Parts: sequence; structure tokens; C-alpha cells
Amino acid sequence: MSEPTTSAGDFIADTVRADNASGLYSSRVQTRFPPEPNGYLHIGHAKAITADFGIAEQFGGTCNLRFDDTNPDTEDVEYVESIIDDIAWLGFRPDNVYYASDYFEALYAWAQTLIERGLAYVDDQDQETISAQRGGYGKPGVESPFRSRTPDENLDLFTRMRAGEFEDGAKVLRAKVDMQSDNMALRDPVMYRIRRGHHHRTHDAWVIYPTYDWAHGQSDALEGVTHSMCTLEFVAHRPLYDWYLNHLDLPYEKPQQLEFARLELTHTVTSKRKLRQLIEDGVVDGWDDPRMPTLQGLRRRGYPAAAIRAFCTHIGINKTNSRHSIEELESFVRQELNRVAQRRMAVVRPLKLVIDNWPTQDGHTIAQAREAGEDCVGETQWFDIVNNPENPDDGSRSVPFSGQVWIEREDFALDPPPKYFRLTLGREVRLRGAYLVTATDVVLDDSGEVVEVRATYDPASRGGNAPDGRKVKSTMHWVAASHALDAEVRLYDRLFSAEAPGETTGDPIDDLNPASMERVAAKVEPALADVEGGVRPGQVVQFERIGYFAADRVHPMVFHRTVGLKDEWASLVKRG
Ligand code: ATP
Ligand code: MG
Repeated sequence: MSEPTTSAGDFIADTVRADNASGLYSSRVQTRFPPEPNGYLHIGHAKAITADFGIAEQFGGTCNLRFDDTNPDTEDVEYVESIIDDIAWLGFRPDNVYYASDYFEALYAWAQTLIERGLAYVDDQDQETISAQRGGYGKPGVESPFRSRTPDENLDLFTRMRAGEFEDGAKVLRAKVDMQSDNMALRDPVMYRIRRGHHHRTHDAWVIYPTYDWAHGQSDALEGVTHSMCTLEFVAHRPLYDWYLNHLDLPYEKPQQLEFARLELTHTVTSKRKLRQLIEDGVVDGWDDPRMPTLQGLRRRGYPAAAIRAFCTHIGINKTNSRHSIEELESFVRQELNRVAQRRMAVVRPLKLVIDNWPTQDGHTIAQAREAGEDCVGETQWFDIVNNPENPDDGSRSVPFSGQVWIEREDFALDPPPKYFRLTLGREVRLRGAYLVTATDVVLDDSGEVVEVRATYDPASRGGNAPDGRKVKSTMHWVAASHALDAEVRLYDRLFSAEAPGETTGDPIDDLNPASMERVAAKVEPALADVEGGVRPGQVVQFERIGYFAADRVHPMVFHRTVGLKDEWASLVKRG
């Protein structure tokens, strides 16, 4: 569960303030968001983005987007483009867009410098041997037999590595740090591997690629980053980050690495690798499946960018890993949508209500018409209904009503449980904004299921007001059958049933919720049509009494449930 957090950015902001006070960077503040373009951004990245851009903004600095694109095997322009798009959607504007691959030449030159200074060497051993020799905590490291190669020999071999003289994996360049360090990251880490992969930007220009640790800090230094924020798993890498920078001549003041906690959410995984697995296993439709915690998924689901930003700011930049409740994020989504989403009526599990005394055009009633063997809906009346009580500027719309309306199946009970205040035989309820109706009879199918409710309405209750002030407990939403549109509504539940997916078995797939999506055929009011003046693709509306729903961006008349109306976070907090 979430821990109480200090205000956003506290300890990092404190560091920046202290640095500004000491004049370390001449009051310059430069941060970066450094994604590897090997997948789509997820909610965890939103936290990092909010932190990186937030600190820069707070101190009048700059924040760049830097693609950490040093691994040709897993990266692709598709991801580069989606990341650029997602950051813009989230509401942030990088001052510059950089690519680590643009520094391959500079990194190579710096590697040569380390070799010349006797601080790096070419190792002919394979990865397995190198790993085995690295030892472990309390287990001494074993020095490579190639560690004592001379700088000249190393320079020559390194040049030939680059020239493609050796096979993939035949040699690596390693930093000569300390094989007995308590910090495994310092036991002669690999700087370059030989790898004939096709890179999405440098194509086939290189056959050696820098490792993350070698590329990252040096890229920071080349760009003039001052505060390089990353997640806590890099704490152990900080001495290496500093070691490299301490042994090079830098164009700017040395950047510093600052670590903060990853964001994890209950019932969710936030790791590109695990998310990719869900796609590959066919559990979800793709990176933008509305059940995915990717920004694309959340966006398609209807999460407003403002809500994600507000949530990230609220949880702040903290130093201890903790899992936040998904309900807490949803509560930010609900708050924002309550403000901006227009209200509409939609019936998700429709049941027909026939109003026997409703007038037909020829002066009869529906009941009379039916007796004559005619199935008619009677005349149409229009009611003015407010679009959003939270925002008068949204105005109102005209909603049609006639003698047959769809109501929610669960708003009628033949055999009502105790404290059931919705429609039952003999009871009067309000059809929102229209009339008071009383159920008089039902039509059952062979299995005893209610297929139609018969009712009468009170003509004096137009607008839904009881003329004599009589008490009517329930107000229900409805859609006139005569004007209803068909829609597909997708109801989502948690993708994982466990709070910490994979915690017990190690594999999140074991905790999948088999019923994370349900598709239902709904009846919706005409103002939800996919036409000019209707609902725009991607627009989120509130289906009254049901929840917030986002119109699909591609398929007309498909709606994704963003969140329900009930604030589960509030009740979780209350329960403690
Ligand atoms: P993943 O494990 O999902 O692949 P990653 O850390 O490898 O994540 P990167 O593309 O390297 O992904 O991440 C870019 C930045 O976003 C890094 O600074 C990283 O620390 C940060 N980041 C990634 N995941 C989270 C998270 N769950 N919470 C906060 N920051 C994150
Ligand atoms: Mg990474």
C-alpha cells in the first residue's frame, strides 16, 4: 500500500537547491528522460517523466528527451515515435530530443582515452567465463588473464573490434576497475560487446555497441546534464557512473545520479518485458489494449493526461519502493472526469419498459394499439437535460422519450430483496428528467425470465416532478426505444486478480484475471452517435449511474469503461 509521501520532489529539489547555493553548476539545472525505445511507455514512466520535467520546470532549467538506444536487437522506430507521442500527450515538451546513438563516435573516442590511460582492456573470454570470474558478495573476483594487456595492444584490438575483424561475442572491452570490490558493478564491467545487429538509426555502421552503464553517464556528460534521475535499482551503479566520469575530461561539470523509487501499482505490472509477454501470449490485444498500464492503453481507456499528472505529483518522488493502490490512481481519474465529462444516458443491460397509457399519434394509447395487434412506440416528446451539472458552460441537450423505453435490467426486480428501492410491481419510480412511472405487469419468457415490464405513467409528472410532492425514492436512467442506438460497451476489470501479480509464483501470468473484459450490447441515446455534434472519437462521457466511458478512437459506437462511479479509494482509506 502507499506510504505517506513528502511533497513532490522533496529530496531531489533539496539537492538542486543546495547545488544552486554552492554554485556547483552555476545555477544551471538540466535533466533528461532517458527511455530505451524497446517498448511503449507505461504509468511508471509517467512518474519518471513528471519528476524529470517537474524538477527542470521548478528551477527554470531544461529537460531533454534522450533515447537510450544502444541495443540494436530490441529497439525500433515504432517505439521512438510512440514515446514522442506519449510524452506530448501527457503534456510535456522536451527542450531537445537526443539519441545516445548519436554519441557512438564520442563514446568510442572516450573508450580509447580510458584504454590509453590503462583503465580499459580487451578481454577474449566469453560472457559465461567473465560472469563466473566476477564472483559474488563475499566471494572474491578472479582477474582475467587478459587484464594486463598493454594500452597499445588494447588500442589495436579495440580498433579491430570496431572494424569487424572478430565474430560476435569473441571479445569485449572492459573497464579496469577493481575485481575485489564489494560492489559487483565495479568488478571490471563490460563497456562494449561485438554484436552484428541492425540498429534503427545507425543501421550497420557499428558492430560494437556500448553497454548501458558505459553509455548512460557519458551521454549525460556530453549533453551537460546536471541532475540525472533514475530508479533505485541503479543505486549500486552510481559508483561506476562516477568512476567513468572521474577518469574523463568532461565538457561540463560532472553530472550526478540521483535515485528515486519506481512506481508500482496493485493489480498491475510495470515492466516493458512483462507487458510485452502479455501481448505475445495473446492475453491482451496490443500495447494499447485498454487493460494495459501503458500510456497508450490508459489513453484509449479514457484516462485524462491531467489525472495521470496529478496522481504522479501527488505520490511525489520518494526513496522507498512501495506499491500504490490502483484505486488511488482511479480516484484522480474520476475527479478529473467528474469535472470535464458530459453526462449521457446509456442502458448497458437493456430491459424493455412499455408504457401502456402513453399516447399514440391517433389519440389512442399504446395498450389499445397493442390490443389491435400493433407494436408502436407512440408519440415522441423531447426533454431538455443538463450535460454536466459541474459545468454550466456545457449547456444541455434534447433527449427523446416515447412509449417504450429501455431500462437497466437490474433496475427491475420481480422478487425484490430487502431495501430494494428501484422498480418492482406496484412501485413508482422517476425516469430521470421525464416522468414518474409505475410498474403494473411483466411478460416472462419460457424460462421465467422477465422480458418486458408493463407500466403506466403520470402525465402530470412531466419533467420528472411529482405534482403533489409525493415521495418517489428512485431515479433511473433510460433510453427511448424509438431513438436508441446500438453500441458495444466493453466493461473492464483488473487484468490481474492479485494485488502483487506474480508475488507467490514468480510469474504474473499465474495471477491473471480470466474475466478482465466483458462485451455487452447496449442501447444508448442519440447524442452518443458518432456524428458531428455527437461524441468525438476518444471523448469520455459519463453514462449516468454507470460510470465513465471513452468512445473508441477507431471503431464507432464502441465504448470502453474508464472507471466506475464509486470511489473505492475513499472507502479503502476509510477502512484503513
Ligand atoms: P522497464 O523495466 O519497464 O523496461 P526501464 O527502466 O527499463 O523499464 P527505460 O525505458 O529504461 O525503462 O526507462 C526510462 C526511465 O524511466 C528510466 O529513468 C527509468 O528509471 C524510469 N522508469 C522506468 N520504469 C519506472 C517505474 N516503474 N517507475 C518510475 N520510473 C520508471
Ligand atoms: Mg531500462
